[in-house]
Amino acid sequence: MPGPYDIFVLVKQVPDQSSKAGINPDGTIDRAKAKRMLNPFDRYALQAALYTKKHYGGRVTAVSMGPPAANEILLEALEHGVDRGVLLSDRRLAASDTLATAYALHKVIKWLGPFHLIFCGLQTTDGDTAQVGPQLAERLDLPQVTYCEDFEIENDRAKARRIIEGGIQHVKSDMPLLVTVANSYHPLEYKAFRGAWKVQWLQRHPEELKKYITVIDLDTVSADPERCGLKGSPTIVAHTDKVGDIGGNCKMYEGASTHDLVSEVIKASNIKEFVKA
Ligand SMILES: Cc1cc2nc3c(=O)[nH]c(=O)nc-3n(C[C@H](O)[C@H](O)[C@H](O)COP(=O)(O)OP(=O)(O)OC[C@H]3O[C@@H](n4cnc5c(N)ncnc54)[C@H](O)[C@@H]3O)c2cc1C
Repeated sequence: MPGPYDIFVLVKQVPDQSSKAGINPDGTIDRAKAKRMLNPFDRYALQAALYTKKHYGGRVTAVSMGPPAANEILLEALEHGVDRGVLLSDRRLAASDTLATAYALHKVIKWLGPFHLIFCGLQTTDGDTAQVGPQLAERLDLPQVTYCEDFEIENDRAKARRIIEGGIQHVKSDMPLLVTVANSYHPLEYKAFRGAWKVQWLQRHPEELKKYITVIDLDTVSADPERCGLKGSPTIVAHTDKVGDIGGNCKMYEGASTHDLVSEVIKASNIKEFVKA
């Protein structure tokens, strides 16, 4: 069996939407006010990377771009079993749109060296564009499989099932390859006790932790600062509206039959005519 495989998984720290994130006057998210979490979609990418390592052998590197606090999600990835984490953190990256993000991340990947697979989440819960994975593949001149919900390696070739409009598609590809993992992929397994214990120990031994998580800046990866941050971002946030709090007034109806329930709802919504099916 060929392998082992060098696997990268991209993870992003996002505001926890159950906490109150503010909105800056320029329409961007005030991330400082929100609690932070691992992008839920990246949990599937993490599972795909760890499954691939477990079944075919290799090494998993979690890569993130963000402020120093994004270290937290790399620790979480270590707990789940990744072998190392790399954080690109640089003030010059602030206000990067997807174009600038993909540019900076492709520099990190090039700096890391040869690999077989890059797993990304499908999208994030903050930017929500689903653009970074495909843009990264283009920049790295890689084949890409998007919306992947099952992934195997057979005879040193990738074999994937992906969601398409109205059905599914089975594809095969040579590696290196970039895969964006759908949330219909297998959920992330629980942290292993050994991983959690190891991270606790590493947090008490910062010098050892540095062997597992490397923090780098734009100069390390020879990225052009003019193509990062606000300067490198052609996207303009024209306008942002605050959507009302989720929840609000909700009335629960109870009834013996569906007909009774529907009648109750129609009465309450003040609909005059009821078209019988
Ligand atoms: C004007 C403007 C200013 C912005 N300023 C900021 C800012 O200061 N800070 C900020 O965090 N965002 C900022 N954003 C949002 C930022 O552009 C996007 O969040 C980012 O480019 C990723 O796009 P996305 O969230 O749509 O990711 P998607 O394309 O939906 O993500 C797909 C997948 O790509 C990977 N990925 C995406 N981003 C990263 C990352 N940073 N590190 C590792 N993997 C990643 C993940 O695997 C993810 O699941 C700004 C956006 C605009 C338009």
